[in-house]
Amino acid sequence: MARAAVLGRLSWRVGTVVALRDETPTARTIVLDVPGWPGHAAGQHVDLRLTAPDGYSTQRSYSIASAPDGDRLDLTIEPVPDGEVSLYLTEVLTSGDQLELRGPVGGWFVWRPGAADPVFLVAGGSGLVPLMAMIRTRGLTGDEAPFRLIYSVRDPASVLLGVTCAFTRAAPPGSTRPAGRIDASLLTAAGWSPDRRPAVFVCGPTGFVEAAANMLVDIGHDPQRIKTERFGTSGGPP
Ligand SMILES: Cc1cc2nc3c(=O)[nH]c(=O)nc-3n(C[C@H](O)[C@H](O)[C@H](O)COP(=O)(O)OP(=O)(O)OC[C@H]3O[C@@H](n4cnc5c(N)ncnc54)[C@H](O)[C@@H]3O)c2cc1C
Repeated sequence: MARAAVLGRLSWRVGTVVALRDETPTARTIVLDVPGWPGHAAGQHVDLRLTAPDGYSTQRSYSIASAPDGDRLDLTIEPVPDGEVSLYLTEVLTSGDQLELRGPVGGWFVWRPGAADPVFLVAGGSGLVPLMAMIRTRGLTGDEAPFRLIYSVRDPASVLLGVTCAFTRAAPPGSTRPAGRIDASLLTAAGWSPDRRPAVFVCGPTGFVEAAANMLVDIGHDPQRIKTERFGTSGGPP
């Protein structure tokens, strides 16, 4: 039984694009119908495989943005400059197209309803995507675990979700916090105190995740309660 479930997750399936939704001037959500999808937990991702007519094939991982919802999956893609797959997904893919995918992948970076612990989410850019699945799952299930989110993003136009943001390059007029990277004082002021022993999830570009996780440990969070997911390089200078 367990073996069949694992084999199911590792098998490639075909999903059909049923809708595309622009989230920001650049980021796009792809809504997929995947017949026989086995379900997922908030925080898991899929592997996508693209194959060209000449047989060239490449794979990338994308977090699932939606709460579990039958055969439906939402993926939110932020294109990276010169990105082979992300530019295809955001600029070329259209409704009715089919995509090969497998999953759900990952059993560590997940949040499941029912745990009483407070949850502290720390996102950098598109690292918000799996954390949105956690927020959506909480809303859908009526779970009452208290959530807090710190969201680091380049500028107001790049915001995927309306929350208090830490803008790194350009802060909106009247902002009480100047543009800049997250720091220990923000993590202390906006997050849960380490005394509450929150479950901490940090997701984003590798440099962001490493810096945030180090600061969280420095301000007293238990390293055993910090889960991280790295999306790749930071994609830009400091
Ligand atoms: C577990 C996991 C989940 C992920 N979930 C998401 C998601 O939900 N949404 C999403 O948009 N992306 C997500 N990613 C990143 C995604 O897998 C790809 O790395 C990203 O889309 C770039 O692929 P590409 O083919 O377009 O770029 P490539 O052609 O592979 O690279 C082009 C250039 O971009 C740089 N680059 C590659 N990856 C990144 C990155 N993540 N950030 C900045 N620069 C990069 C490369 O160094 C290179 O210079 C996830 C990654 C992982 C490991």
